[in-house]
Amino acid sequence: MQIADDLLRIAKGEVLDDVWNRHVYSVDASYYEIAPAAIVHPVDEQDVSQICEYSSSNRIPITARGAGTGLLGQSLSDGGIILDFTKHMNRVVEIENDYVIVQPGIVKGILDKELKKKNKFLPPDPASSNYCTIGGMIADNSSGIHCLGYGNTIDFIEEISVVYPDGKRGFAGTGKFDSQMKKLFELLSPFTGIIRDGYPRVSKNSCGYRLDAVMAEGKFQPHKAFAASEGTLGIMTSAKLRILDIPIHRYIMVLGFEDMLAALSTVPAILKFSPVALEMMDHTIVSFRGKATGNTGCLLFVEFVGNSSNAEEHLTQCRQHLAGQCSVLEYASDDQSLTKIWQARKGALNDIMKMTIGNRKPIGLIEDTVVHPDYLAEHAASLLQTYRENRLDYVMFGHVGDGNLHTRPIIDLDSEPEIEMIKRIADSVFAKVIKSGGTITGEHGDGLARVGYIEMMYGKQLTALFSQVKKLFDPGFTMNPGKKVLVQQ
Ligand SMILES: Cc1cc2nc3c(=O)[nH]c(=O)nc-3n(C[C@H](O)[C@H](O)[C@H](O)COP(=O)(O)OP(=O)(O)OC[C@H]3O[C@@H](n4cnc5c(N)ncnc54)[C@H](O)[C@@H]3O)c2cc1C
Repeated sequence: MQIADDLLRIAKGEVLDDVWNRHVYSVDASYYEIAPAAIVHPVDEQDVSQICEYSSSNRIPITARGAGTGLLGQSLSDGGIILDFTKHMNRVVEIENDYVIVQPGIVKGILDKELKKKNKFLPPDPASSNYCTIGGMIADNSSGIHCLGYGNTIDFIEEISVVYPDGKRGFAGTGKFDSQMKKLFELLSPFTGIIRDGYPRVSKNSCGYRLDAVMAEGKFQPHKAFAASEGTLGIMTSAKLRILDIPIHRYIMVLGFEDMLAALSTVPAILKFSPVALEMMDHTIVSFRGKATGNTGCLLFVEFVGNSSNAEEHLTQCRQHLAGQCSVLEYASDDQSLTKIWQARKGALNDIMKMTIGNRKPIGLIEDTVVHPDYLAEHAASLLQTYRENRLDYVMFGHVGDGNLHTRPIIDLDSEPEIEMIKRIADSVFAKVIKSGGTITGEHGDGLARVGYIEMMYGKQLTALFSQVKKLFDPGFTMNPGKKVLVQQ
């Protein structure tokens, strides 16, 4: 009550603290339910700045929120203030030939439409892109189907405008940054070796802070500190992102395999033909979606693009290489069919989140691991054995070209023994993934569910460095506390 009254005096945007709205904002796409004290729809950067200043001087937690589609509780706040950017700070500010500037609350699908009018696109395409916002995508370092060919959100950020916890405004880009970012450089410089050696060698990673990208190849890129930071270092108020021309030719084929391991063992060979997307849906999803054909136990979706006939040649060579190992179920090169086929793949997570078997539901925790594609079939075989040994039903699909497997065992969250079992399974699966040089989360992030595993991933030294980074930006520990760094140092 007091917080909302104070905010009503400070904020230009709407302030909400009624039971209904606190309930609405107490959930995201995870299994947590945690209520904030109040919600604000900020109208501009000045609004954000004044609310942050209030939050830090009164030691009240503050959490930015986009569409709330985060899967690990990232946008939830226990008794704090939520800043919802979707209502007012949701505009495209500028589209140029090779970049776009946006406010954080713009929905990715709306930005896609604006860019398409100019024959441009921003490649990261989460299955949630009809709802999720650019602010959320940066803060989770989201990716999606086409990130195999183009890179993840972190690879497209060029500049960020930000409000720090004390309300001061900041700016970060290559070669131009504020004094706070200079301090970040001074903090990280003595640790370049540890940073270089301490990160997984895989194509996508949303675990911890991405200091490897900040200090990559001798260049200081402070704006990349905000990728995967889950709103714990500052609140982004605008972002400049690199954009690309839409490719002229696109070809897709859907391949049917007898089972998942047969499909996954072909992934390294398919990658040699440079597809921009290589996705998998196992029979657990195929049959759930009613798409099963004959004895097809697993589908791979492979897309090639280009501005000449090259792309079609790659597809043909790839198809010839796989002859006898699978059947080609569909082939398409027109926009309408491509959209339809990708919609079928994109709907997978949405569908399985609604799936129940009695009291049991597919539970995310080990749902986003990444291993090197050469090790993927072995990793999947080990997961299948774990599921068999524990008599668990499961679902499996994913961005297999990146070695990114989405799998959820089907568990009863009201059963203590089953919760203990999933924790034991997570310990063992994460240990194997880390040992292989992979990451425990490729694109969904840590949130509340995985923050406790960050030290297992990076070890004590890097985890301590993450705490120092957090302290540098947020000494009062008000900015989305409990995400990325467990406790205040
Ligand atoms: C059905 C479904 C499918 C999905 N598919 C994919 C997929 O294919 N690939 C993928 O990568 N992810 C996927 N996700 C996960 C999720 O959609 C993405 O992480 C998404 O980018 C989150 O965006 P959001 O706007 O919902 O962010 P939120 O969930 O609202 O917030 C996420 C984080 O961003 C922070 N944040 C938001 N705005 C700001 C800001 N202005 N400044 C600082 N921090 C900010 C929040 O504090 C929070 O920590 C899926 C989720 C669902 C439910």
